[in-house]
Amino acid sequence: MRDHNFLIENNTKHMWQPMAHPAEAMANPPKIITGAEGVRITDVHGATVIDAVGGLWNANLGYSCQPIKDAIAEQLQVLPYYSTFRGSVPGPAIELAAELREWFAPDGLTRAFFTSGGSDSIDTALKFARQYHKIRGEHGRAKFISFKKGYHGTHWGGASINGNQNFRHNYEPLLPGCIHIPAPYPYRNPFGETDPERLAELIAAILEDEIAFNGADTIAAFIMEPILGAGGVIPPHPSLMGKIREICTRNGILLIADEIITAFGRTGAWTGSRLWGVQPDLLCFAKAITNSYFPFGGVMISERLVDTFEKSDSKAANIGTGYTYSGHPVGAAAALATLAETKRLNVVENAAARGTQLFEGAQALMAKHDLIGDVRGGHGLMIGIESVADRATKAPAAADKMAVVAETVYEAGVMIRVSGPNIILSPPLVISAEDCDTILAALDSG
Ligand code: PLP
Repeated sequence: MRDHNFLIENNTKHMWQPMAHPAEAMANPPKIITGAEGVRITDVHGATVIDAVGGLWNANLGYSCQPIKDAIAEQLQVLPYYSTFRGSVPGPAIELAAELREWFAPDGLTRAFFTSGGSDSIDTALKFARQYHKIRGEHGRAKFISFKKGYHGTHWGGASINGNQNFRHNYEPLLPGCIHIPAPYPYRNPFGETDPERLAELIAAILEDEIAFNGADTIAAFIMEPILGAGGVIPPHPSLMGKIREICTRNGILLIADEIITAFGRTGAWTGSRLWGVQPDLLCFAKAITNSYFPFGGVMISERLVDTFEKSDSKAANIGTGYTYSGHPVGAAAALATLAETKRLNVVENAAARGTQLFEGAQALMAKHDLIGDVRGGHGLMIGIESVADRATKAPAAADKMAVVAETVYEAGVMIRVSGPNIILSPPLVISAEDCDTILAALDSG
């Protein structure tokens, strides 16, 4: 491996980064991360800090999970790759599908389809939704409905249902027939409604209205994150996902849960759908399935869809989508080890307890810091702190101000993620109470 000076000299010279302006990255180079242990990362200058981002909401078990590392190393020796396309399947993919069936049985999801990551999973689920209706002869059901401020990855389907302008504008025109309704975001919404429950009722009414306006028989699916993540951590009122489920069912529309962040314990429940007591028709996962030591994702499919596909003798039920790395044996082995460790460590309990600690601690900071406009969380280790230039006007904090906050907090020993005016906290689910105190103290200094 090259020495650290090479990394510093070449940082940003030969590579564009996702979600960054190339010129801005050159002027303000990203931190070069060279090592990680437990819940801490180390940069090229030797500074070691707590990773309050958890990689990208995904290193749920931290960076020192030896059973996953061993499983990857062993699988590389036995069968480093084979395809899952028709005619062959690597053994670990079969084992993982059986294991996932157990995990997702309470959600009514009984089949797995594997992908290489989150965006793949979203586009696959959108395709399966359209295909389900086609198999049943409902060819007109092609549109999708989603939340503004939702994030669903960056492939064409995902970008089209995405509710954040930053990920859309430069790539327009996107897919036609994608309808966006207001997010369950009491701090800012078109109605000035600050009560989450009343806002949930308004959103449900808008959904009904959009369905009636477009015609239910034109709509394939509604897709939502059980807790909106990249949009700034926006937990809906507990009633909302259930209301949406009921509206979808009544109108023959499928409900897709985008659980790329929320699956496997992050919300303090094993899935975000289970947190709200809802069974989706399709559930997308990725990220924490391998603790992010290997790129991997998938879609879980409910019994109703399974029946429609498997009992059809029509060519419409052929699955005409998939990836070279679908069901990759090394990824599947990593996932099996991750699920075993996730279960053994019962991380869901720690996520709930530490989530409450961080949420309440961040709320307490509001009394001391005028620049905090809103603190959102209360469901596991997903906390959003929205910064404002002025609490009265709610004018968002400027980007340069947010950059200074991130740097100050880093110097105090904690990596945070800044997304627009939001500070996002999503540390590994194995984080200790002491480390959460350190995160709060570092934020206090920022
Ligand atoms: N959906 C959600 C809710 C996400 O948060 C993400 C990524 O952060 C994605 C989809 C896309 O996943 P990936 O970046 O693995 O393609």
